[in-house]
Amino acid sequence: QDPIPTDYDIAQSTDMEPIWELVEPWGLGLDDLQYFGEYTAKVKHHAIDRLRENAENKEENLVLVTGMTPTPKGEGKTVTTVGLGQTLNHLGEDAMIAIREPSLGPVFGVKGGAAGGGRSQVLPMEDINLHFTGDLHALTAAHNLIAAMLDARLSQGNDLDINVNDVAWKRALDMNDRALRETVVGLGGESGGTPREDGFKLTAASELMAVLCLASDLEDLKERISRIIVAYGEDGETITVDDIEATGPVTMLLRDAIKPNVVQTIEGTPAFVHGGPFANIAHGTNSLIADKAAFGMGDYLVTEAGFGSDLGAEKFMNIVCRLGDMTPNAVVLVSSVRALQYHGLDQWPVDFDEIDESGVDAVEAGFENLDKHVSNLQKFGVPVVVALNRFPDDTEEEVQAVLDHCEEDLGVRVAESEVFEKGSEGGEDLGNHVIDAVEESDEDEFEYLYDEEAPIKEKIETVATEIYGADGVKFTGGALDDIDRMQDLGFDDVPVCMSKTFHSFSDDASKKGAPEGWELEISEVYPSAGAGFIVALTADALTMPGLPQRPAAADMDIDEDGNISGLF
Ligand code: ADP
Ligand code: MG
Repeated sequence: QDPIPTDYDIAQSTDMEPIWELVEPWGLGLDDLQYFGEYTAKVKHHAIDRLRENAENKEENLVLVTGMTPTPKGEGKTVTTVGLGQTLNHLGEDAMIAIREPSLGPVFGVKGGAAGGGRSQVLPMEDINLHFTGDLHALTAAHNLIAAMLDARLSQGNDLDINVNDVAWKRALDMNDRALRETVVGLGGESGGTPREDGFKLTAASELMAVLCLASDLEDLKERISRIIVAYGEDGETITVDDIEATGPVTMLLRDAIKPNVVQTIEGTPAFVHGGPFANIAHGTNSLIADKAAFGMGDYLVTEAGFGSDLGAEKFMNIVCRLGDMTPNAVVLVSSVRALQYHGLDQWPVDFDEIDESGVDAVEAGFENLDKHVSNLQKFGVPVVVALNRFPDDTEEEVQAVLDHCEEDLGVRVAESEVFEKGSEGGEDLGNHVIDAVEESDEDEFEYLYDEEAPIKEKIETVATEIYGADGVKFTGGALDDIDRMQDLGFDDVPVCMSKTFHSFSDDASKKGAPEGWELEISEVYPSAGAGFIVALTADALTMPGLPQRPAAADMDIDEDGNISGLF
């Protein structure tokens, strides 16, 4: 038997179409695009405006792809999103795809790239995974311009009376570099600035990334940037980006980054790859601008929300749909045999070989995790389709156990998905279920989980008990003072963005399945005034991950002809 081709081999052996030819039938002309080589383009503002108008007179079927609580390797949401988009086209629908841009952090870490895999990838995968159109670098520069202007202001007269111990804006970098998580800046004597504790975030965790993904156009982007709170003054008053006169130059640096990038999948489906906020301290979905443009191009939009449904989907429903005025018509919940086994095995941590060997009993023991994701999603009034993403080592018996459980015990739509191995041919069952679910959906049934106007504590408690399965919430540290401060600022009638580990429904990464009898601990609450939500932090919310002992980067190479290896 031939060795299984790598994602990069499959990508290299695919003939791509020039991007302008590919999108022409979808309503984009030569003048609408700004080109980055032959296969990648940004869509210009005038074209976005036109697509938005188009969208008003046509069907807009929104399909959200989310997942059960994943293993550290990921369960295939991006693969399923890309594969489902391809499949819907193969079944005769006009479907667009919108996903996030990869960050170099995970590309070089454990997880690898974020361009899908197998026969369900967006291309050119090596460009998309490495630098792409430079959006993340522009965001890094814009983020650090704010930091530099803030520190300059602080050390040269401090006319704004900025409290040096209450600076809320760190530095940013698009690299998993744990050594920079906590730092001291301002050393080097009198000319070195004001010494203070500081730190770095991953660029994807910058509020600017969230802002870019929620902005409706350049004007709105500017308005949101101006509102971002970067520090507090000696009397507790807010110091914003506007106060340090950074609104103009920061928006200017993002003038291209705000335009959505369009590429193609292996089967020639157009895909927006734009923006990549963390699903941890931000909302975790691609830009609203890309979504709105996609609605003007196809009848379906398939989009992905980060991490498990407790994080990405909850935020998509309660934050993104609310701010962007969208209604999902179906949700696809991606599951895998390995993730079910990961939840079903009772000893932690185990390695992946142990998971592979663990058989159908471990799959069944893991159902409680899947079941809670299904019942959570049903609370939003949107039809759910479970996709079982089939991996090469899965046995018939394991796969059948999942299908039977969903059909017989849960009474929910379920399909085995082989889009990784076969592309759209492997997604027909899933695609047909999704089309049926969309047809059956009733937009009037869609509901948010909480009222935006509810008190901050109540909103947090609702998500904790309804979605995470906690008994209640314990506010520790300065969290209650934070909430008071937010009320005083009049910044309390906005959605809450919960920051929690993605390894568990609970705030303890080692608790698998669907943990019961625990309390969620909230240690800090802070405003993301530009994005338009409040962030509630649980114990271990990492905004600057680190590399593992042997990072994926160690297996990557490029030869003298420019051929890349080890990128996945
Ligand atoms: P997610 O978006 O849920 O984090 P991805 O779609 O990025 O997950 O998939 C995670 C990793 O697993 C990727 O390297 C992907 O290529 C691989 N993968 C996903 N589905 C399959 C499959 N069915 N068979 C083999 N590998 C897969
Ligand atoms: Mg993904």
